[in-house]
Amino acid sequence: MTKFIKFYQKKWHYRLITLLNDDLISDDEKTEIETHALNHELGDQITENYIADFTLPEGIAFNYLVDGKKMTVPMVTEEPSVIAANNNGAKIIATAGGFTTKIESRLMIGQVILENIDDADNVINQINEHQLDLIKIANTARPSLVKRGGGARWVRVRKLAADLISVDLAIDVQEAMGANSVNTMMEAVGETLQTQFKQDVLMSILSNYATDSLVESSCSIPFTLLDSAGISGEHIAKKIVSASRLAQLDPYRAVTHNKGIMNGIDAVLIALGNDWRAVEAGAHAYASKDGQYRGLTKWSIVSDNLVGIIKLPMPIGVVGGSIDIVPMVKINKKMMGIKSAKELASLVASVGLAQNLAALKALVSEGIQKGHMGLQLKSLAVKVGAVDEEVAQLTELLKNENRPDTEVATKKLNELRKKGDN
Ligand code: NDP
Repeated sequence: MTKFIKFYQKKWHYRLITLLNDDLISDDEKTEIETHALNHELGDQITENYIADFTLPEGIAFNYLVDGKKMTVPMVTEEPSVIAANNNGAKIIATAGGFTTKIESRLMIGQVILENIDDADNVINQINEHQLDLIKIANTARPSLVKRGGGARWVRVRKLAADLISVDLAIDVQEAMGANSVNTMMEAVGETLQTQFKQDVLMSILSNYATDSLVESSCSIPFTLLDSAGISGEHIAKKIVSASRLAQLDPYRAVTHNKGIMNGIDAVLIALGNDWRAVEAGAHAYASKDGQYRGLTKWSIVSDNLVGIIKLPMPIGVVGGSIDIVPMVKINKKMMGIKSAKELASLVASVGLAQNLAALKALVSEGIQKGHMGLQLKSLAVKVGAVDEEVAQLTELLKNENRPDTEVATKKLNELRKKGDN
């Protein structure tokens, strides 16, 4: 009798054969996948059912000056124009003196949820009386973190409903993002609340709403640095302030405003091996903190300057997870010269502010499509099959078209090739 081996139990090569035998991929596609499996031993360590490394383009933004330090910023994104726009925004801000950042605390919140509570006020009092014990239990579960100077800092109890309580612990996670450390600590606290306090524990887990890991980045730009395409910098600054007000008032605009900010933030987080879903989730929740979804940046005019500020939760790390495992992440970290999680958080927030400046400046002056078009036409040329020098030639031809779409690009590419044959 042959033993049935599950997909995850198969060696990498046999996983590909399984996909081939199941007609999910062709021979050629199998060969293609193999070329993308750059390090299948490592891939197997990082994720389950590994078949290949999915690559995304990485580029560099050079113009960063954060708290007086020059920085080179690797960004991983598939979206054309993000890095070019980011570079432009960062350059204007660097010329104006750079970003100034502020971090008041860097604590992650963990939750133990208690349910089926009979007398919530009594349970809350009981837990409050034992806050120090709970802190001790959490710290005992993660001694290595305590040795590094981290650990649980405070306890807060919140009544979510008459029968439901959240016991929150704030944890200093030092240089890591801390998800696994916090989860371990919360499970230990949950176990104690279950066994010794005789409470029903629904779950014990980190919260991604990192309201005690807020980071702020700001800049002040003289109007003259915003002059563009014959439009005065003062006029552009005033329009940016209006655009900022719009993103505070209208959720339809605010979501797009914040998506643009996350274009830059996610690109750096991916390059640095961080959990961008965690930052995304926290950022959007923070954008809704007063009950309405609003823009994460605010722009105003002070004297003859455009002043910008961004503030958002930044649960990131410079160690942990896959950060010290993935080769490109190690190189990116070295290239940036980032030494601490606080430094990275400051930079990432600054990247979001630069991205927002570039987007708003383009929107209120020449419009967003002008800057995007060149790169989009290049992508279109590649999509219809242009190679080598054809890409530049076809892109140029498409610039003269009123409605450059796939059909037009295919036709133009065929014409280009015919011309080449003659
Ligand atoms: P790890 O679980 O990898 O823990 C941090 C690691 O870094 C530990 O091994 C720790 O060593 C080591 N370390 C070395 N130096 C330091 C230092 N100075 N400060 C702190 N730690 C140090 O990573 P995290 O706990 O940060 O978890 C992040 C990962 O968890 C991400 O991949 C994320 O995607 C994932 N995750 C996210 C969740 C969420 O967001 N809800 C849920 C679950 C997982 P030592 O062991 O000696 O302490």
